[in-house]
Amino acid sequence: MTRVLIVGSGPNGATYARTVLDEVPGATVLMVEAGPVIDRPLGMNVRNIPDADAQAAARLASQGRTGAAGIAGLPLGAVVEGTVTARQGTHLIGRAAEGSPGLPAAALATCVGGQGAHWTCATPRPSGGERIGFLPDLDARLDEAEALLHVTKSAFGDAPQATAILERLSEEFAPDRIGVRSLPVAADELPDGSLRWGGTDVVLGPVVDDPRFTLRSFTLCVRLLREGPRVVGAVLRNLATGAEESVTADAVVVAADAIRTPQLLWASGIRPAALGRYLTEHPLIFGVVAVRAGVLPPVTGPAVDPVRAVVSVGYDEDHHPFHAQVMYTPVCPVPLPADSPHRNSAGGYVGMGWGVRKWPRAEDRVILDDTQPDEDGLPSIRIAYELTDREQAEIERAQKIQARAAAALGSFVDGMPRVLPAGSSLHYMGTVRMGPVDDGTSVCDPNSRVWGVDGLVLAGNGLIPTANTCNPTLTSVALSLRGAHALTAELRR
Ligand SMILES: Cc1cc2nc3c(=O)[nH]c(=O)nc-3n(C[C@H](O)[C@H](O)[C@H](O)COP(=O)(O)OP(=O)(O)OC[C@H]3O[C@@H](n4cnc5c(N)ncnc54)[C@H](O)[C@@H]3O)c2cc1C
Repeated sequence: MTRVLIVGSGPNGATYARTVLDEVPGATVLMVEAGPVIDRPLGMNVRNIPDADAQAAARLASQGRTGAAGIAGLPLGAVVEGTVTARQGTHLIGRAAEGSPGLPAAALATCVGGQGAHWTCATPRPSGGERIGFLPDLDARLDEAEALLHVTKSAFGDAPQATAILERLSEEFAPDRIGVRSLPVAADELPDGSLRWGGTDVVLGPVVDDPRFTLRSFTLCVRLLREGPRVVGAVLRNLATGAEESVTADAVVVAADAIRTPQLLWASGIRPAALGRYLTEHPLIFGVVAVRAGVLPPVTGPAVDPVRAVVSVGYDEDHHPFHAQVMYTPVCPVPLPADSPHRNSAGGYVGMGWGVRKWPRAEDRVILDDTQPDEDGLPSIRIAYELTDREQAEIERAQKIQARAAAALGSFVDGMPRVLPAGSSLHYMGTVRMGPVDDGTSVCDPNSRVWGVDGLVLAGNGLIPTANTCNPTLTSVALSLRGAHALTAELRR
């Protein structure tokens, strides 16, 4: 029997579980996850939970663990130190390194399904400089990732508001050759017109019923075990009892997000020069627009989902090196002051987010320190990170384009738009980046194997090496599919 250990139960860990069990009949998979089971099917997007209280409870349960008793977490939407908002379902990890306050913390989820139980399901493809140029089969893997995640390009496609937004913005931007299109999302359309949002459950699919698959929740991987240049297993801690156990495996996949994957490698003495470096997180300019009456058709029919239309102003290297999302909702998605002229906007509201490039630099990094362990005894996490003049200039350029989009539809509500605090995108990348050659600027090879270490494969957004502006999950799942096919070929041999 071939044994594969997977650390982390988000969409990328799930991609490996699914592929290994599909392609290697003689394999077993043990998946370990530090967080609890929060819903069923395992890893389902909590937005599919019909009861609001049950949905809130599932989010809270993902917000980290305090004390021996188990789960606590931050109050919903808590703002810590007036900086990063931990969005519901996430909690903050790490803090800014001294003298480098650019990214005060990262917001991550700890639960079965990972952030894939909470995500918004936007799945645009990388374009231009966002693409990983040294992967010849990137498009084929993106196709495969779209199928695995149940990506649809027609969600809300026949919503009249989507068509109207698309037409308005296309008209506005056509002279600049900026393309506007529907935004692909990971969702299944239900017969009543509503959507079942994609989550990690969709990626796992039949795996959960496969007797060769075992999931251990509330289990923290504290160290990888090595024999010479090979990783041969890991030390696992049951977080309910504190008991530790060593397990062996023919291959170990670490899919523990872009912050905790480097932490685990560091704790295991695996410390390539690029580990934790080249951290990127695209700045996000967000605004809510109160739509002018008559610009969009009124909403009819049952209120099946507050988001009624999603449109993307796509990345274009020359004309629009940004990724933008425009989402229509009949009700305002942010609280407004009682005297706001934008309350109860007859035309509804549009939320618009513009993602801006952050160029990878070695000095933007996760700093791991064994001398000051965290509450689990793993190296503590500090983040050194700064935006440069290059990014500031891009932010200004994006703001001008966003202002035009807003004016075409209505006007920004009070206090908008804003550049969200660093860390808010939830898209942390680059910390275990992939590269074409082992020249010290990457951690993994093009098949996601750590350079010079046998038996160890990494997965997640941390592998993305480019200045990426679009939502990263489709891309990281495509990289996981590539790595998983290479791994299964090796295991079959
Ligand atoms: C509110 C929200 C909205 C989002 N919207 C979008 C979107 O629209 N589009 C998009 O592309 N992306 C979006 N994202 C990001 C997306 O969810 C992530 O890109 C995706 O989940 C990454 O998958 P992953 O498997 O690499 O990591 P994760 O989903 O983060 O899973 C990693 C798991 O590893 C576990 N873990 C960590 N360390 C250990 C350890 N030592 N031992 C055991 N387990 C460990 C963690 O507890 C976690 O559950 C969003 C995220 C959030 C929170």
